[in-house]
Amino acid sequence: MAEVTFTRPEFRVRIDKELCQQCGRCAHQCGWGVHKMDEETGYPVPDSSKCGACHRCVTFCPAQAILVEKNPLAYKHSDSFSPDLRKAVWRQAETGGVLLAGMGNDKPYLRIFDHLLLDACQVTNPSIDPLREPMELRTFLGRKPDKIEVEYVPDGNGSKPKLKTEMDRLLQIETPIVFGGMSYGSVSLNVHRSLAMAAKELGTLMNTGEGGLHADLQPYQDNIVVQCASGRFGVHADYLNAGCAVEIKIGQGAKPGIGGHLPGEKINEEVSVTRMIPQGTDALSPAPHHDIYSIEDLRQLIYALKEATGYKPVSVKIAAVHNVAAIASGVVRAGADIVYLDGFRGGTGAAPTVIRDHVGIPIELAISVVDQRLRDEGIRNRASVIAAGGIRSSADVAKAIALGADACAIGSALLVALGCHLCQKCHTGSCSWGICTQKPELTRRLDPEWGAERIVNLVTAWSHELAEILGALGVNAVESLRGSHERLRSLGLDQQTQEILGVKPAGIGH
Ligand code: SF4
Ligand code: SF4
Repeated sequence: MAEVTFTRPEFRVRIDKELCQQCGRCAHQCGWGVHKMDEETGYPVPDSSKCGACHRCVTFCPAQAILVEKNPLAYKHSDSFSPDLRKAVWRQAETGGVLLAGMGNDKPYLRIFDHLLLDACQVTNPSIDPLREPMELRTFLGRKPDKIEVEYVPDGNGSKPKLKTEMDRLLQIETPIVFGGMSYGSVSLNVHRSLAMAAKELGTLMNTGEGGLHADLQPYQDNIVVQCASGRFGVHADYLNAGCAVEIKIGQGAKPGIGGHLPGEKINEEVSVTRMIPQGTDALSPAPHHDIYSIEDLRQLIYALKEATGYKPVSVKIAAVHNVAAIASGVVRAGADIVYLDGFRGGTGAAPTVIRDHVGIPIELAISVVDQRLRDEGIRNRASVIAAGGIRSSADVAKAIALGADACAIGSALLVALGCHLCQKCHTGSCSWGICTQKPELTRRLDPEWGAERIVNLVTAWSHELAEILGALGVNAVESLRGSHERLRSLGLDQQTQEILGVKPAGIGH
């Protein structure tokens, strides 16, 4: 039978010839080459089969002559075999391969954050006006002592208190929002530059993702967490010492249990040099760290990294899975200063769709069970908890902190701020927005100064909103919200989920 694909285009691209100025900007803007200019008529002729609805051409068409719409193709209804499943079967029958996708799991699982409501003060507990009263968003990440001792030292005619307890090194962030790991290669250098500049200005942290670190980012090292993943790409002594902290990536929310995958199309010479990987061939980091098969092994690596870096804080990133509470407990007992929990809605540059969409658990449940387990074991103060993987707004940040997180990490929201339209084609390396690509004609579209400004604006806005939420709750410090399950109520969650979250249903008072 002749080569024929059963899958039809997901979107239809139409050009309104009444409006079109035949300028050819659409052909220039589309990273996937959808638009070709017809030499005879002068109009663009779109090939809808390549369109992922990234809206770059729509945004930059000066005449607003482009319409990208969902292809209304009707599939015979089946409750069990959705059109998406049929399309996946057809693609696999044609290729025999594992299906890949970018960004996060967008399947219609329950979004627990959207079923949680925050409390507000009314009469006897007055709310606080964040426009007139100071609100403390500053957060310290890392190991805190079981108790502190203070001594009094002579000061002129009297004495003054001095902390006697030796503190571990803590990371100070001015807002409880940090940036999740995104590697150079999965995103462009201009994205990394934007993140680094923004992190410095905001007083927060960016994260290299699966190493290394481009030389241009050296000036920002006080605000950079360097990651050490299973492939050890770009990891060497100078790299480890370049950041303010080191993160061991055991798992990732978008693809728990499997290694990293950077498609060869995205590995140009500069990425190859920075990450110490061959140019043009897929870089696949192993699923496990081959030197970690127990908590004892993890302990050894944590201490080796601390020794190598002059005892900088070490974070351990794990994916939210069924046994996440026990794993987090082991991680803390192994000496980690930070446990980074990544939920199943976390983003990725490339992941097998079947893993992305079906493995892991929601971050909301993971935060709650980890916080509770660490409290039950009396070790909650020994490490901070960062929650990631599905944080979309300041309200999500507040709810995650009320469930027990010290801070949240965001990734997809940052890319959306830079223009990402969630088309999920990051793995192709042709992102029209210059985000998930290494093609120079595309990466130059993202000006790092502009990108940094957008990110600073976004996180500043969320921080103001967070202050508003704290004020409404009648507390003046984000620390006072942490683990305050009593300030949350559920709407439409089943009883068991409420019990896991430690949250009462809406309508029940204190
Ligand atoms: S992929 Fe993006 S730029 Fe290309 S035609 Fe579709 S919407 Fe336009
Ligand atoms: S980063 Fe680019 S390719 Fe990836 S989802 Fe966003 S717009 Fe699409």
